[in-house]
Formats: sequence, structure tokens, C-alpha cells
Amino acid sequence: MDQAVLILIKPDGLKKSLTGNILTRLSETKLEIVAAKMVRVTKELAEEHYKHLKDKPFFNDIIQYLQGQLHDRKKVMALIYWGQDAIKKCRDLAGATNPEEAESTSIRGSYGRITTSGVYENVIHVSSNDSEAEREIKLWFAPDETIVDLYATKSIVQQEVKSKVWA
Ligand code: UDP
Ligand code: MG
Repeated sequence: MDQAVLILIKPDGLKKSLTGNILTRLSETKLEIVAAKMVRVTKELAEEHYKHLKDKPFFNDIIQYLQGQLHDRKKVMALIYWGQDAIKKCRDLAGATNPEEAESTSIRGSYGRITTSGVYENVIHVSSNDSEAEREIKLWFAPDETIVDLYATKSIVQQEVKSKVWA
């Protein structure tokens, strides 16, 4: 089954200059990249992304982590991979959530760490299932930012919308 999956290279991955390594590892999947961009993550975006973890004791830490406040890198790289069994393929390559438990050859096992305050800095986010992938992709990307039509869209006419264009 063809699927879409949201991948985020988290601020620790960017700070450690792992973008190339991570994309090379992901290219083993033979999946297609259908969207990619750099994003400055607001508190609102981070909280919406991790809203299912709101009651966890580490919630505030991972909001700060995703915003780049632990790494002096206030950005993440967001990508959508698309193709056969995309979620399982990418999650297998990423490895377990806890980098100490992740297989040593996986992305998280190779590059992740647990901080002294207990946060799993695991360099990459991968959607966990179809419905989460759809929710996350719609949160991080607009329809025009992907090169394939992933989900139903509608056209609206917006009046007096202020937007930035090249001068
Ligand atoms: N996390 C953490 N401690 C935990 C569980 C999760 O620091 O005990 C962090 C970790 O960075 C993880 C993120 O919170 O990637 C989201 O957790 P989730 O359970 O969704 O794991 P994932 O889907 O990323 O493997
Ligand atoms: Mg998750």
C-alpha cells in the first residue's frame, strides 16, 4: 500500500550536521521525497505536533527540544516520503524511540543520546501510523507544497490576505 509519512530532522540532527547521513540512510528505502522544507518551529506548532503526549512528564522538554531551544538551532527539516509501506520502512530505519534501546545500526541507535535530564534526543521524527501521518502532514505542509495530491483538497477564494512576495 502506498503511504505518506512525515519525517522531521530534529534540531540535534541539524546541529550534529547529520542531514546528509540521515537522507542517505532513508534513501535505502527507495521511497520518493514529495515535499521538503526548513521550518522555524513555534511553540504552537510543537504543542500541536505532540498534543497526544500532553500529559507526559517530559512534554515541556520535548516542546523545547523540537523548537531548538536545547541546541541553539531554531529550525527543523521537514520532509514527506511516499511509497510502498513508507511508515514501517522509515520507522525501522529510525529505530526505537529510546536511543539506548534502538538497534545500534539504526539512525537513532547511531546518533541519538539521552540527556542528563532524561530527554531522548533521537535526531529524527517519523509518523507512527496512517492517521498520525495524515494529521502531521496537514499540520506541517500546505497542499501546494507537495508534488503529489496526498489528501482531498478544496479551492477557496481568499480576499485581502497579506502575504510576503519577492520584492
Ligand atoms: N520522548 C522522551 N522520553 C520518553 C518518550 C519520548 O524524551 O520517555 C521524546 C522522544 O524525543 C520522542 C518524542 O518524545 O521521539 C515523541 O515520543 P513518541 O512516543 O511519539 O516516540 P516516537 O514516535 O518519536 O518514536
Ligand atoms: Mg510518535
